Amino acid sequence: MMGALKGDVRTINGSNDMQEDVFMDGLMMDFPLTLDLVLRRAEQHFHHKEIVTRMPGKGWHRYTYGEMAVRAKRLALALQSAGIKEGDCVATLCWNHYRHLEAYIGVPVIGAVLHTLNLRLHPDDLAYIASDARDRMVIVDESLLPLLNQFKDAVGFEKIIVVTEQGVAPDGMEDYEAFIAPFEAADYVQIPLRENMAAGICYTSGTTGKPKGVVYSHRSNVLHSIGAGLESGIGLSERDTLLPVVPMFHANSWGLPYAALMLGPKLVFPGPYLDGETLLDGFASERVTVSAGVPTVWNALLATLAVKKDDYDLRCLRKLIVGGSAVPVSMIQAFDEKYGIGVVQAWGMTELSPVGTVSNLTSALLEAPKADQYLYRAMQGTPMPLVEIRARGDAGLAAWDGETMGELEVRGPWISSAYLNRPDAADRFTEDGWFKTGDIVTIDPVGYIKIQDRSKDLVKSGGEWISSVDLENTIMGHEDVAEAAVIAVPHPKWDERPLAVVVRRAGSSLDEATLRCYLAERVAKWWIPDAIVFVEEIPKTSVGKFKKTALREQFSEYQFQQSN
Ligand code: AMP
Repeated sequence: MMGALKGDVRTINGSNDMQEDVFMDGLMMDFPLTLDLVLRRAEQHFHHKEIVTRMPGKGWHRYTYGEMAVRAKRLALALQSAGIKEGDCVATLCWNHYRHLEAYIGVPVIGAVLHTLNLRLHPDDLAYIASDARDRMVIVDESLLPLLNQFKDAVGFEKIIVVTEQGVAPDGMEDYEAFIAPFEAADYVQIPLRENMAAGICYTSGTTGKPKGVVYSHRSNVLHSIGAGLESGIGLSERDTLLPVVPMFHANSWGLPYAALMLGPKLVFPGPYLDGETLLDGFASERVTVSAGVPTVWNALLATLAVKKDDYDLRCLRKLIVGGSAVPVSMIQAFDEKYGIGVVQAWGMTELSPVGTVSNLTSALLEAPKADQYLYRAMQGTPMPLVEIRARGDAGLAAWDGETMGELEVRGPWISSAYLNRPDAADRFTEDGWFKTGDIVTIDPVGYIKIQDRSKDLVKSGGEWISSVDLENTIMGHEDVAEAAVIAVPHPKWDERPLAVVVRRAGSSLDEATLRCYLAERVAKWWIPDAIVFVEEIPKTSVGKFKKTALREQFSEYQFQQSN
């Protein structure tokens, strides 16, 4: 019930007094959405469910949600005893494994802030990020000590806890098991938490400028986890077995650790082994039903499956959540037609906790021909409940006609309202409270978005925009192409023209002329790249996306000569 109830009679707390100018509040509990609730739910309802981790040496470690909860509380007590208090940042530098999960929940439930460091970044960036967040201590995998040693002194961590296999940490550092050993879960007392207090920090993996800190709250993590359980979200449930390939050090691991604790699927962590064969072995032996990761991972998996399909029983695998960069139609089609596995594309950003839209098929599309379904699956989908979208072009807000392009703006309860320590980045937020994503999209009449490009990656040819994402995906649809990236190169007549950088599939001798003929049948003539360069590898960012800044640098001397 909304609005003023002027002169109305209301029975509130048993009183029948006439009240003038009162607002009527709902009589629901003011119940904070905090992560201790998620921990209690995991231990009360899913204590018997398994959490499995691929360990160094490739054997499996197994325990239950119940044992995880006990150990997370012991970690929480150990952190408190080490002086970590509300608002202090505790960093992790770890692969995906069960002790990292213990930190994911054990750190925020004491009011401290989990800061996941991206192990693929340069040590100088890690020094900057950990200092910017004022990380007091770090939990680090033994195998990553050589990386930590390159930046730890620049940060000055008060304590370094090492996740070891043999229980022996280097001098001046402490073994994780020894750190939590003195504490009993029974002694853990939950302190009251506020739902808007900080729970975690991830830095953007930005390809330009310094990384920016995104600060998640308890409330945003809890709401995002509920979103993950919805059919119109990711549709995760207790019946699933989830293997998150997406690293726990990137973008909140797509919110999957908290979603799992709230929803109770069996969890399978891949440890540091993200190659096609080891993942496939894990999918088959642990009967995984859902997995999630960036397209490069699934590309590698398809290559392995092409030669070893019969080695793995993938009948349980029903869904791959793919996001982080655009998913080519050819990939969606290959998984569906060859292996019966559904690809569901999600779009998100670190700033969105991170999922914003999911390409689920509507009832009408389920009735449509397969080819149409693939086209929609190759779009980025509709917003999760509680997320709102709009697009802004040069002429104001863009029409939802599936054609007009504009920069996507979003708002909702799990979307950043500011960056940590970066008042200079305030221009990423509109005055009326929306976040400017930097992605150029079209929106169709029911709200399906299609990412056309990052604003800085669009190719502007003769005043018209060419979507590098579309062009890349079309090129990657050729059976002899493993990877393709398109960048804009200055052109004397057209301002910019596309240059395609292509990696052939192993054993293929694909040439430029053949690829041009293939493209001529699929894209407008003026979209065909002016140059196609074959390379061994496309440089990637720390999270496996094409690193267009590096490509632009590599081809900075490139000049289109012709002035046709
Ligand atoms: P990050 O913060 O590292 O997750 O990067 C966010 C950016 O990744 C977005 O702004 C998009 O440009 C890109 N991205 C994420 N998901 C998709 C997707 N499904 N399709 C196309 N681009 C995507």
